[in-house]
Amino acid sequence: MKEIHKLAMENSSEVIELRRDIHKHPEIGRKEFRTADLIRSKLEEYGVDQIDSPVPTAVIALIHGNKGEGKCVALRADIDALPVEEETGLPYSSEVPGMMHACGHDMHVAMLLGVAKILCQKREEFAGTVKLIFQHSEDTMPGGAKELVEKGALENPQVDAIFGMHVYPDEDKVGKIGIHAGPLTTSVDIYNITVKGKGGHGSEPHTTKDPILAACEMVTLLQQIPSRYINPLETVVFPICTIQGGEAVNVIPSEAKFSGVARTYNNAVRGQIKEQVTQIAEGVGTLSGCKVEVDHVVGYPACYNDKALIETAETAIEEVLGKDAIVQLEEPKAFSEDFSYFTEMSDVPGAYLLLFAGHEGDLVSLHNPKCAMKEEAMPAGVAVMTGTALKFLQG
Ligand SMILES: [Zn+2]
Ligand SMILES: [Zn+2]
Repeated sequence: MKEIHKLAMENSSEVIELRRDIHKHPEIGRKEFRTADLIRSKLEEYGVDQIDSPVPTAVIALIHGNKGEGKCVALRADIDALPVEEETGLPYSSEVPGMMHACGHDMHVAMLLGVAKILCQKREEFAGTVKLIFQHSEDTMPGGAKELVEKGALENPQVDAIFGMHVYPDEDKVGKIGIHAGPLTTSVDIYNITVKGKGGHGSEPHTTKDPILAACEMVTLLQQIPSRYINPLETVVFPICTIQGGEAVNVIPSEAKFSGVARTYNNAVRGQIKEQVTQIAEGVGTLSGCKVEVDHVVGYPACYNDKALIETAETAIEEVLGKDAIVQLEEPKAFSEDFSYFTEMSDVPGAYLLLFAGHEGDLVSLHNPKCAMKEEAMPAGVAVMTGTALKFLQG
């Protein structure tokens, strides 16, 4: 397995070149036409066995091992950019105004192409199939993962396990891999609530149906969902982050609005939250005489890492890069990822890894216009994805 890292290092200049090309030409979710063309042409050049595009800007490729029938492992990279004006000052900065690969998906594409090249050269050494999923539109809702699962991306051949990886900016762990069994990222559910009452003069509140008072009661009661309705062993975060209503100090308005995002690591809890939001909104509506509309925008599910697959990845990292490259994440992350659809909508277990990628200059987070992670992390990502796929197929 050590040889895989050597191959990844040998191919690193090609991977970096691809990354810079994609970085210069960012495309927003569902418009990744150039990116998808580039992916298809490189996959053809490397000699994969099959290339499909179930939607125009996603690419799914198969590489069969020459050792015969076996399991099928999927590796996923997301390929879209963000509507962000780049401020990194890098020589290969975005050439598209107002668009940037600020989430590192350019690195994901380049790395998975690097994996494809190595696996095509190593066909003699494995049985079974590797399915490469270049997924469109991760950062633009609704995520592309859901669409791909609906179109059968995990079937024909049926996938037995799926792995994904995200680059992550940090101070000092360049090229190390963060792993965590169990919940890794939260689900996202957006609630926009509109309270419609009856406006009137501030001196005569008894003649009105005050939507502001009703909205405030709801906001307070909603905070009882985590503290009184959900098992305290579950994590639920549900702040109300916007509230609007009224324009004059002597007028009770006829409408008030507020919104918030509920996050949890357990997808089963999402339904309970929705039920309670509806019950509180309808209950306060009845008491106050106001009409209440609850708009629930269903975001990405929580991402759950299968324990056995994390162990497979851990063994692969150790064999490919050495034990020092493993970073056991102490706690899950609070961001969300549509990789979760691949496992949530199917029986396929999955594991999502983090590749620490350092940062050029002052550290900023993903999605920041100055986000500039180090390319020297990429060979480690290529090696670990390749090694993990081979390890799973052998096991
Ligand atoms: Zn992102
Ligand atoms: Zn991302």
